[in-house]
Amino acid sequence: MRRFLLALCLAVLGGWPGIAAARVDIVATTTDLAAIARAVGGGDVVAVSLTSGAADPHFAAAKPSMIRRVFDADLLLSVGAELEVGWLPAVLQAARNPRVLPGRSGHLDLSTAVVLRDARTGPVSRAMGHVHAAGNPHYWLDPRNGRLIAAAIAARLERLDPNNAAGYRSRLAAFTADLDQRIPVWRDKLAPLAGRPVIAYHESLVYLASAFGFEIVDEVEPLPGVAPTAAHLSGLVATIRDRGVRLLIMEPYYERRSAAFLEDKTGVRPVIIPQSVGALPDVKTYPGLFDAIVAAFAEAGNLR
Ligand SMILES: [Zn+2]
Repeated sequence: MRRFLLALCLAVLGGWPGIAAARVDIVATTTDLAAIARAVGGGDVVAVSLTSGAADPHFAAAKPSMIRRVFDADLLLSVGAELEVGWLPAVLQAARNPRVLPGRSGHLDLSTAVVLRDARTGPVSRAMGHVHAAGNPHYWLDPRNGRLIAAAIAARLERLDPNNAAGYRSRLAAFTADLDQRIPVWRDKLAPLAGRPVIAYHESLVYLASAFGFEIVDEVEPLPGVAPTAAHLSGLVATIRDRGVRLLIMEPYYERRSAAFLEDKTGVRPVIIPQSVGALPDVKTYPGLFDAIVAAFAEAGNLR
């Protein structure tokens, strides 16, 4: 009898669409990770981002909607390397979902999937801004790292949802093949930038520079997260003149006064690049992000 009841239960559960169609519920801290999760997860997952892509990911308010999403999640994807250190711990604490706590199989810190640049040694203080002390967390801006991020997400999904492993594997292969095909095209279009000195606003573009071969000679921020001073800006005027810098690359969410000042003094052209999926309304996928970055450089005019 007991065996019969068990069989009946399994039959009912197996035939119940709500169970059969259960998707892995993914929350990502950024739109880029959510977009990559959707690409490799397909119809087997639902992936949303906790932040919008139009705002600075170093800062976010722990809203009730965010906490509800984390409470329901099977898998939380984070950029790590302290990018979300100002807000994610509070969200995790409020959400009380043990499945997605750091160290659990439902928490994937993607900084462990890539090689981080510029880890700082020696004493650092967050009073000096967010100092990227654990290494530079803006690694999604190298499309080669997109492959590593996607592979790590697919591997974790296979582990959490082994029944759909074949789907994760084939979508990962398609995502990787697509990037492999596009990277040389992007590189070709940005070839005039190769070897050129540029200024960045924030210390966020080192991965983009490494992928496309340009050189960042200084930043508008004297330290990551610290607003520029008059003295730092006049130092930049000298650097821009000495090095023949033509472009100043920055994310849309930074103040524009410093760039306008530098443009006025030196003629350096500000290039506003979307730094994430969703930074501009029509940037909806991870490869689409690099299409938009390439377009932003093209709009800046003659790169030579
Ligand atoms: Zn940063």
